[in-house]
Amino acid sequence: MTDASDNPSAKPHCLGVLTSGGDAAGMNAAVRAVVRTALSLDIQPYLIHEGYVGMVAGGDAIITASSSDVGGILHKGGTSIGTARSEEFRTRDGRRKAALNLVKRDITALVVIGGDGSLTGANLLSSEWPELLAELVEAGELEQPAADAHPRLQLVGIVGSIDNDMFGTDMTVGTDSALHRITEALDALHSTASSHQRSFVIEVMGRNCGYLALMSALATGAQWVFIPERPPQTASWEEALRRTVAKGREHGRRQNIVVVAEGARDRYGVSITSERVRDILSEGLGEDTRVTILGHVQRGGSPSAFDRMLGSRCGYHAVHELASGRAAEEAQLVGISENRIITSPLMAAVERTRSVAGLLKEKRYDEAMELRGSGFVEAYETMRTLVRGRPRPPDEDTEAKRIAIVHGGGLSPGMNTGVRAAVRYILDRGHIPLAVKGGFPGLRDGNVEELGWMSVHGWVSHGGAELGTKRFTPTADDLPRIARTIAEHHIDGLLMLGTFDGYVAAEVLHQARKRHPELDIPIVCLPMTISNDIPATEFTIGADTALNAIVENVDKIKQSAVASTRVFVVEVMGKESGYLALAGGLATGAEFVYTPEEGISLDRLKDDVEQLTARFRSGQRLGVIIRGEGADDVYTTPFLWALFEKEGGQLFDVRQSILGHVQQGGDPSPFDRIQATRFAVRCVDHLIDSLDSDTQDSAMCGLVQGKVTFTPLSRFRDMLDPNGARRPAQEAWYEHLRPIATTMSGVDRGQL
Ligand code: ATP
Repeated sequence: MTDASDNPSAKPHCLGVLTSGGDAAGMNAAVRAVVRTALSLDIQPYLIHEGYVGMVAGGDAIITASSSDVGGILHKGGTSIGTARSEEFRTRDGRRKAALNLVKRDITALVVIGGDGSLTGANLLSSEWPELLAELVEAGELEQPAADAHPRLQLVGIVGSIDNDMFGTDMTVGTDSALHRITEALDALHSTASSHQRSFVIEVMGRNCGYLALMSALATGAQWVFIPERPPQTASWEEALRRTVAKGREHGRRQNIVVVAEGARDRYGVSITSERVRDILSEGLGEDTRVTILGHVQRGGSPSAFDRMLGSRCGYHAVHELASGRAAEEAQLVGISENRIITSPLMAAVERTRSVAGLLKEKRYDEAMELRGSGFVEAYETMRTLVRGRPRPPDEDTEAKRIAIVHGGGLSPGMNTGVRAAVRYILDRGHIPLAVKGGFPGLRDGNVEELGWMSVHGWVSHGGAELGTKRFTPTADDLPRIARTIAEHHIDGLLMLGTFDGYVAAEVLHQARKRHPELDIPIVCLPMTISNDIPATEFTIGADTALNAIVENVDKIKQSAVASTRVFVVEVMGKESGYLALAGGLATGAEFVYTPEEGISLDRLKDDVEQLTARFRSGQRLGVIIRGEGADDVYTTPFLWALFEKEGGQLFDVRQSILGHVQQGGDPSPFDRIQATRFAVRCVDHLIDSLDSDTQDSAMCGLVQGKVTFTPLSRFRDMLDPNGARRPAQEAWYEHLRPIATTMSGVDRGQL
């Protein structure tokens, strides 16, 4: 991270933005954010078309951009300003031409969105800049005063690449969308493979990085994954693969999916190709095996909600970095770490990235794996546990504990994924998982049964909640009955996967443990709700799926207005948390967002009506307003509809759309599946540890600054909003999205 102090005198008058290398979904969001943020800071943005090809060519390839030039591109895949690979830019002559084209336009700052090659090229241009200008002066192509007036080229990079292989950022723009494409394909292949009892070998992108292969395998319950960083440990991996597949069939697996990263290799460095894996399965086992190479499908399609937000956040911060002059001394990379935007020296990140490729070439696999970070290693180990045909035999001295799993509150996508991971992990650690059917009423009524390894087969990808869930707070009358169930079923610990209401129910049991000693068991709560309104965690499982549902539906709603001038008031869920509204607004490019945290005032509505009518008067044709369902009791969605309809007069008509339960339904997104699995494994570990140590530690599991943490359940109430709203007291991290959303929509809140 840089800590260079601000140097506003280095603020550029003009900046250029380009996309380069392979295209990635979300690049458009980044370009749009760069342009609009630059305009908001009085910097003239230029779009450089076709990457370095356009920079070298100049002319119409480098043109000034207005806010409307980047309108209507947020939802589009790829990059609207084009990308290319340029051989000429690799030469000094090419870079001299590029420098002349920039300096003639007064461009002294660049935002480059691309992979490590593109960022290296940009860094070269920036470091050669004074010499290139001197050469241009010497050749008579540039006047000395012009060269003197442009002493440096500031540079900020954003990684746009589907490989997720760059240091300096936890996620690269485009990775999450690629994961969506791969997961969709794997889900589809699972159903056909299952129908025919077939095996599929799927090849996914990743020459030096197994991220996409590993995470898609984890998110879909694939049986085996080959990645470049972790070659099979045994020389006879072929035999191990055959054995695993044969065992899976024996235990009732109807399909086998093997995921192969394109750069996978064995420990001798010999490539493991999808064809080789197919031959092992079909010749060795007589399995009907097909190969599918996903190829460019992985790059295509509309960007996911996460990539739209990541692109927007990085673009916004990249321009602020340039405006503050912090990149004047050294080129910077803007990325995300533990959910915070960070900057770090660009070339150090590029060099570390390249070092992994070097380690792989030298077969130093353990070091390469370690450099990928603990989350990657943990995901790999979890994957290996969950895909077994059956659990490992328990240690002789493990005393089997009975751990019940219950849902609480409303439905959230990811519940089945979490239960699957928990059940298998409990079994693998030598304990006994019990299912409580129908939520806390099921616990009261003794609706409890044992689960086996294969009873959760296929649950990884299913929306809904197979165990059932209910909003229910146990009363004083319910508690003795719940205590009886716990005693009768010899329940040693409870894992609750659920929403805010589930937390309330779990906390009621925890508080009642003195009166009912049977309730004195460790309870661990795993946050599963689309609303993102639970204390002790920044993310809840299900919110990403809901956000993607909002994005997909708002895209469709916008398309429906093609031939009219129209404003949509879209109501999203979230109860008293504004996460879905704010993040949904940023990811869909909404004009206004109303959240429960901010509320709605008459002054604000008056201002918004004026701004919206002024925009339509000057030619705008489409508007989207997002209102979180709990934003205000009086200024409801129908109220907003009526207000804008009346005030819009002949300028536009208004439609309202309450998205409703599409946000809770559907199969969980890859991110929610991965997090549900990760959380469930950690919760089971926490439960077992506290059972072993007899500390009876009841806790809330959460993700805080990118780390899985446990907070005592007894703190639940103290962490809630003191004014009684159903959300945490602490200001939510997503409030950081508000200024970005406001800048993107061009709303002027000066007078409010
Ligand atoms: P991807 O990860 O999709 O491959 P990338 O940015 O690494 O993206 P490259 O093909 O390596 O893609 O680079 C894109 C362009 O950046 C090249 O065509 C070239 O114009 C420029 N470039 C790359 N490396 C250099 C370099 N060392 N010097 C100058 N320019 C470079």
